[in-house]
Amino acid sequence: MSSDRQVIIIGSGPAGLTAALYAARANLKPLVIEGIEAGGQLMLTTMVENWPGYRDGIMGPDLMTELRAQAERFGAEIIQGDVTAVELSKRPFTVSLGKTQYLAQTLIVATGASAKWLDLGVDKKLSGRGVSTCATCDGFFFKGRPVAVIGGGDTAMEEAIYLSKLATSVTVIHRRDLLRASKVMQDKALSIPNISFIWNTEVVDIKDVDKGEVTSLVLRNIQTGERSELAVDGVFIGIGHVPNTALFSGQLAMHDNGYLKTHDGSRTSVSGVFAAGDVQDHVYRQAVTAAGSGCMAAIDAERFLSGTLHESSALHGAPA
Ligand code: NDP
Repeated sequence: MSSDRQVIIIGSGPAGLTAALYAARANLKPLVIEGIEAGGQLMLTTMVENWPGYRDGIMGPDLMTELRAQAERFGAEIIQGDVTAVELSKRPFTVSLGKTQYLAQTLIVATGASAKWLDLGVDKKLSGRGVSTCATCDGFFFKGRPVAVIGGGDTAMEEAIYLSKLATSVTVIHRRDLLRASKVMQDKALSIPNISFIWNTEVVDIKDVDKGEVTSLVLRNIQTGERSELAVDGVFIGIGHVPNTALFSGQLAMHDNGYLKTHDGSRTSVSGVFAAGDVQDHVYRQAVTAAGSGCMAAIDAERFLSGTLHESSALHGAPA
């Protein structure tokens, strides 16, 4: 068992590393446990063109390398490993990595969410080479080209609507003949002329791994078994995300969809535990919003430690 840490941060995406940067600059010597998907979802993408300050864009992994080095420069300690258990019923909190245990006065949870993949294998191999799970991140590369979106929920509709402004055509492939998306999103997607739908269909293969790019999708109609091929340059998988919250089950309050509940900034249901990034945000899910909430969590943790984090937020309490 190591000595108490002021702040332990679980996760090393934009939220975790921004929290580390702020906590380090506040002299809290944070320990970051980077997790199995070190660097988070940006490690899965290529060029990031919507991170402010880089007019020509920056490669996702390069951005994470910079963020990491910046946090380390101010004294953040980053260790490899995946947290196997946490004990949040009393302070200091216990964070375990197998048999190694760390104690923390405050904890920042920035474990993110993982995009769901198709389980084809090939989709991951072509990730960043025509297969993407984020239209806002990668849609621009398909300007003037045909693309497909897989899924029938709000994420898929949002991706399709966004892509319709860039791509020549967007084909939504859904495994049923009924969309799960909200009515307003369905109506919008159905009304856009260059979005079309293929119903009751699953993707059974994505070509062409040998060429290292997407050239077509092999489809199978679930009702008839009939196979067909659809030529596209890109495919966006919009079948949902899974928040990485299993560790906190029964300890932190969660929404029905598994995302952590936060209130008054980054506070969770346990005093002294804060959450930042996609693990508590299923709406915006952008690198920059994750970074912003990481900053909030570090400031909240610092105020908690110094006894200046009050129950009612400044917004509620301060006179106008
Ligand atoms: P959902 O779980 O709502 O939808 C996932 C979709 O993908 C479903 O249509 C599902 O099919 C399909 N799907 C799931 N697994 C597979 C698979 N293996 N193969 C093929 N298709 C599959 O996830 P979303 O990410 O769309 O939404 C999550 C939450 O976030 C929702 O509450 C949503 O409302 C919210 N959200 C809101 C937005 C907004 O308001 N602007 C934007 C994005 C999300 P089936 O229908 O058959 O189950």
